[in-house]
Amino acid sequence: MKALTHWRHYLGWTKTPFTILTNHANLQYWKAPQKLNRRTAQWHTDLQEYDFTIKHIPGKINTPADELSRPPNSDQGDNDNKDQTLLSPKLFINATYVTQIPDSSKRNLMTLIHDHPMAGHPRRDETIWKATEILPWTGMRQWIADYVKGCAICQQNKIMTHKKKIPLYRITTKEGTLPFQQIAMDLIMGLPQQHGHNAILTIVDHGCSRAAIFLPCSDTIMGPGTEKLGIQQNLSTAFHPQTDGLSERKNQWIEQYLRLVTSNDPKGWTHWLALTTTVHNNQINTTTRLSPNQILFGYNPTLNSDKVLQTHNALVESRIQAMTKNRADAIRVLNKVADQKGPPPSQFHLREQVWLDASHLKLPHQKAKLTPKRLGPFKIIQEISPVAY
Ligand SMILES: [Zn+2]
Repeated sequence: MKALTHWRHYLGWTKTPFTILTNHANLQYWKAPQKLNRRTAQWHTDLQEYDFTIKHIPGKINTPADELSRPPNSDQGDNDNKDQTLLSPKLFINATYVTQIPDSSKRNLMTLIHDHPMAGHPRRDETIWKATEILPWTGMRQWIADYVKGCAICQQNKIMTHKKKIPLYRITTKEGTLPFQQIAMDLIMGLPQQHGHNAILTIVDHGCSRAAIFLPCSDTIMGPGTEKLGIQQNLSTAFHPQTDGLSERKNQWIEQYLRLVTSNDPKGWTHWLALTTTVHNNQINTTTRLSPNQILFGYNPTLNSDKVLQTHNALVESRIQAMTKNRADAIRVLNKVADQKGPPPSQFHLREQVWLDASHLKLPHQKAKLTPKRLGPFKIIQEISPVAY
């Protein structure tokens, strides 16, 4: 007050507000209605002349000001002017007015502007915008963001723009694995019906030669049928064709090859499969830098009769040596590629709750376009591999 009076000729009735730097804590007291004594009542009157805002500076560096505001022997005037506000809260820069709203009211508001059919689960920003219009409160942005993030209906049905990326998970092979001991299988379906066949079973030697066998079959073979054949399914890659991508690449290759050779007679595709297998296995694999046949037999069978006939009658011993070396080299290279980054870290933890993508599930109502995109939430009870739970 003393400073204001002293500089009154500069500070009184200014056109724009000026700023008072002060130890804020002292003045906080005056933000609430107080009983004013005679001296402070006079201040209240005097303050009407000034247009100012108050900025906090730490009390430690503002000690001289304390002396000025509390002169010794001043009249305390304890008994008059009760409940007067000396400094209106709006004078304080950055003063926060916490509007306390009970959680139940917030939830009721969300029911109205997010959950209700007339609201239609709008996205986060839309929900915040609507809430601001109706019932703003401090910290509402975060609260609403969390609410929308946790909304089960939204999670179950909305299209995810930021899909969780599934890490590559490649399977390695034991040393000395024989050809076709570890295989990748897939079914190409939707082919023209021919001799009771409408699908191709692709079997790829996964661990050693990368040789492929293409067999005509019908699309009812998978599932329980594989159990009868004594095939052990590796759960770690079920529904994760992208973890390896081997059979998918083979499928692309064979579909393209068949399209080229059967363009005049698409129905005759079954006759071409044996040749397709041989042609495929004669081609150099980019990883092993050997053709599958070189690994399987030690040489590439001659397919083109126009070529000068080469003889493959090498000594049995040198043939076996070459073959064994090729197999060992191939396994080493394949494992090196698969092992490059080591196994990926676990994507989820035990007992974590997750949504299950419904697109791979065969459900009774699968046909309907309006079924939920995700099911659950389910609790994780076992980790089979870093990408399968
Ligand atoms: Zn929602």
